[in-house]
Amino acid sequence: MGNIRILPDTIANRIAAGEVVLRPASVVRELMDNSLDAEAKHIDVLVERGGRSVIEVRDDGIGMDEDDALLAFERHATSKIRRPEDLMHISTLGFRGEALASIAAVSRVTLETRTRDRDSGTRVVIEGGKLKRVETIALPPGTRVIVRGLFYNMPARRKFLRGIQTELRYITQTVQDLALAYPEVTFRLRHHQRELVYYVSVSVWEDRLVQVFGNSMMDKMIPLKGNMGDYRLTGWISRPDTGSRTPETLYLFVNRRPIRDRWLVRLFRECWQRYGARWDYPHLVVFLELPPDQVDVNVHPSKLEVRFREPSNIQGLVRGAMERAFAAERPTVHLDMAPVSRVGSPPPILNEPVRLISQVKPTPPQENPVSLSDDPSRSSISVPRPEPTFPRLWGQFQACYLILEDEKGLLILDQHLVHERFLYETWSQHLLEGSLRSQSLLVPVVLEIGPNKVAKLMEYEDRWNKWGWSIKPFGPGAVSVNAAPAGVWPTRIESAIHALLDALESMSPDLKEWEHDVLKDVACKAAIKKGTRLSEDQMRFLTDTWYRLKVPQVCPHGRIMAVRLTLNDIHRAFGRTWNLQMEDKRADE
Ligand code: ADP
Ligand code: MG
Repeated sequence: MGNIRILPDTIANRIAAGEVVLRPASVVRELMDNSLDAEAKHIDVLVERGGRSVIEVRDDGIGMDEDDALLAFERHATSKIRRPEDLMHISTLGFRGEALASIAAVSRVTLETRTRDRDSGTRVVIEGGKLKRVETIALPPGTRVIVRGLFYNMPARRKFLRGIQTELRYITQTVQDLALAYPEVTFRLRHHQRELVYYVSVSVWEDRLVQVFGNSMMDKMIPLKGNMGDYRLTGWISRPDTGSRTPETLYLFVNRRPIRDRWLVRLFRECWQRYGARWDYPHLVVFLELPPDQVDVNVHPSKLEVRFREPSNIQGLVRGAMERAFAAERPTVHLDMAPVSRVGSPPPILNEPVRLISQVKPTPPQENPVSLSDDPSRSSISVPRPEPTFPRLWGQFQACYLILEDEKGLLILDQHLVHERFLYETWSQHLLEGSLRSQSLLVPVVLEIGPNKVAKLMEYEDRWNKWGWSIKPFGPGAVSVNAAPAGVWPTRIESAIHALLDALESMSPDLKEWEHDVLKDVACKAAIKKGTRLSEDQMRFLTDTWYRLKVPQVCPHGRIMAVRLTLNDIHRAFGRTWNLQMEDKRADE
């Protein structure tokens, strides 16, 4: 009895510190958050021994007067929220009023601060939560917090700190996170006298990304943009051929607050993989901006987790931004060219040389692509596309690939897969509108398939009609195909019919899904095969088609259909790694 006691503040604060202050990087994070909330334009971070002995954060923000400088160390002392309702729309990084009290409880803190409208500032010294000194000092406007001997009074905690390099890595990461979110602020991080980070303020996000990640990574990123009501998304995601096996390059921000959110990562990843990405994770930097009352940031002590009030809005925003970006950029796999070595035997002579097209005229963007079979019913196919560029068609290679050049470099297309994708996209579109367009055959194709299969096929005649086929029994064990869906390659009719027969074997209760699976298979069987030599018009048709595809990266079954070799890739392979523009002026090299 009578054993319960209210803990003295110094102990209570030390316990609270356990949640807020895990390691030097958390101190850096809290102090920088405060500087950003104080509208600083310059933030200077200085650490010693990985933050174990000294962490100093200096800013040129609004500062504090003497009263506030003392109050700031009280628990739950904050200038950022006043009423319970304020918790519903937090627009600052801090709001709990716990950080300074917690940090001061487990270290020796000196705070120096001055507001712009005063001539002098205040210095407050606190050790282990106890106020030691308050004095008036001269200093420029802004705030400087020096934290010495973190966990000096908590030996158990101190033992759990990792090595200097590891702690330093966490700190650098923390500075980078915030630097990404605040490009208009200059950030500097030094370890003893060594400068680790120096990002000068810039006016656009993209420039800050280049400062943090470098040009070569940004070369591989596709910009994302989206708006939905009050929600806004700005971001960058890597091309489908660039990514990683671990979630290491994922940077998500909500109202400029760095967050971790598996749901959001999964959403991006799934969209991305639909465009042929074979990696587990993309490189991703995303800034979401939404009204503060649409997101709850008070979910977890670390403030790293958030809860969205309307996840479906976020979903729509992300999907829309991804679709637009991938349609506009048409990102493709890049060929990684290593310098060629001369060891070994000479290359075999190619049995089917590149058939170069002698006279090259640019193909104008066409609303109605040239039809492979000159069937006018095809011309109504138009997938809304950005203006195609003017690719220069080089020719066909190995009767399998089309080689062309556009403003981004060389492009290699798989003729079969492009045609397959085109058929699939066109047919799915027409199916949505009711039925597939049909093309009648000048000479009907007669197929001997045996009486059983004839019966089976004819049982579903209505469906085949809807899909653009006209199939009639022809004698005892044969059918005559009089019309086929527009686009079927003339010599592929037989194999397409076999795809229909196969499909009957795998009828599934989910008819919609089954239909799409069959369309994929039929598209594959009905498309030009590899080994088919193409006329110049046919090649042009296919290359124009590629620029109009909704998904220009993979065939319906997921195989890569386009590979790119940029001018940079080629220069690099030849060892021209420095500024490529300067190189132009030195034409003789
Ligand atoms: P919170 O950020 O959650 O309000 P903190 O303990 O981090 O709580 O800070 C307490 C208060 O001290 C802040 O609300 C702010 O008014 C003031 N403060 C802290 N750091 C700074 C700074 N660098 N510049 C100006 N004011 C600051
Ligand atoms: Mg704070």
